[in-house]
Amino acid sequence: MTLKLTDGTVITPFRTIEQGVVVIEGHQIAYVGTKNSNVPKGQKIEINGCYVSPGFIDIHVHGGGGHDVMEGTLDALDTIAQTHAKGGTTAWLATTVTAPIDEIAHALHAINQGMIAGLESAKLLGAHVEGPYLHPDQAGAQNPVHLRLPDPREYFLLLDRFPCTRRVSVAPELPGALELGNELRKRGILASIGHSNASYAEVLKAIEAGFSHVTHIYSGMSSVHRVSAYRIPGVLEATLVLDELTTEMIADGHHLPPSLMRLVLKAKGTNQVCVVTDAIAAAGLGPGQYQIGGLDVIVEDVVPDEYEVKLGPGSYVAKLVDRSAFAGSAATMIMLVRNLVNLVGLPLLEAVKMATWVPARILGLSTERGLLAPGFKADLTVFDENFNVKMTIVEGKIVYRSEL
Ligand SMILES: [Zn+2]
Repeated sequence: MTLKLTDGTVITPFRTIEQGVVVIEGHQIAYVGTKNSNVPKGQKIEINGCYVSPGFIDIHVHGGGGHDVMEGTLDALDTIAQTHAKGGTTAWLATTVTAPIDEIAHALHAINQGMIAGLESAKLLGAHVEGPYLHPDQAGAQNPVHLRLPDPREYFLLLDRFPCTRRVSVAPELPGALELGNELRKRGILASIGHSNASYAEVLKAIEAGFSHVTHIYSGMSSVHRVSAYRIPGVLEATLVLDELTTEMIADGHHLPPSLMRLVLKAKGTNQVCVVTDAIAAAGLGPGQYQIGGLDVIVEDVVPDEYEVKLGPGSYVAKLVDRSAFAGSAATMIMLVRNLVNLVGLPLLEAVKMATWVPARILGLSTERGLLAPGFKADLTVFDENFNVKMTIVEGKIVYRSEL
């Protein structure tokens, strides 16, 4: 079937096309441009001055709609995909947490199955394995009881059995972690520095061993400390200064104040930083008590008086019950794009790029997703000037639609 979206502002995201047209043939984009006599024919959908951009790609999702990836069922994955599709997400990495290895294997099995079966809504790109090879001092909401050192017998089995694995977050300073990094690089899996206490020098070794990305900047990472009179930079400073590393920001407005998001972007530029939700089951739901990886978490909108900005109603976040740390977000991708524009002050084009082309490139998918261009997968998000998602299209199929 051929669909023709007309009268919208097209964000490719390298330029905007006013009164633009996007034509979709089957699973692919056939035309992007202005109205003219060469535009292919198709079933017309007027998008009435809304924006149309590539679909959002979220490379760090634990849950949504009341369900968690660790449930290890196709039903849970389906609900999570549908919940995030309402927030404009068209492709995502299902993210596991630190748990006994058989529970992680159970979740990965479902992700493998989900990729074979194909979910009805947002495309399941694969798994992001976050833990158990993380540093206990930077565990955050990862259950410290189940943290372990990388063991080749264990991870070879996991990687061989579950080809869905596309990304692994590891603390590279742990004994055996560099060998794991090398193995991931060999297999074309994104090796990400996460929940790590590494020093700057250890980060350099990690880069040599194949680590190229850093998990949720500012969360679960070392920063500068002193040894006698001398300053030893940590993962945070290494990420900010080293162009070899890409990173991701949880731009839900809670995890990072606008000033720190600006600092990250000043240091790295918008081409090296994507946004992720790091969403838990609470995404798409209201405040309350939830569970993630066997830990109780609370979801609320309470922000300290000293915090830099007041956040609008409905801007919830998950915390450990003692409120000592965040436990993931309750956001969907459209909220992050909105925050980049409204809180950080980025041009819309740049904000959209950080939710589309940049994550596609980080995952090695930028020849097929993350850009509105002929031949690319027909993954599109339509939203209005108030950042309400109006329509989400995955590989040419409308998976979510509200009133236009
Ligand atoms: Zn994390």
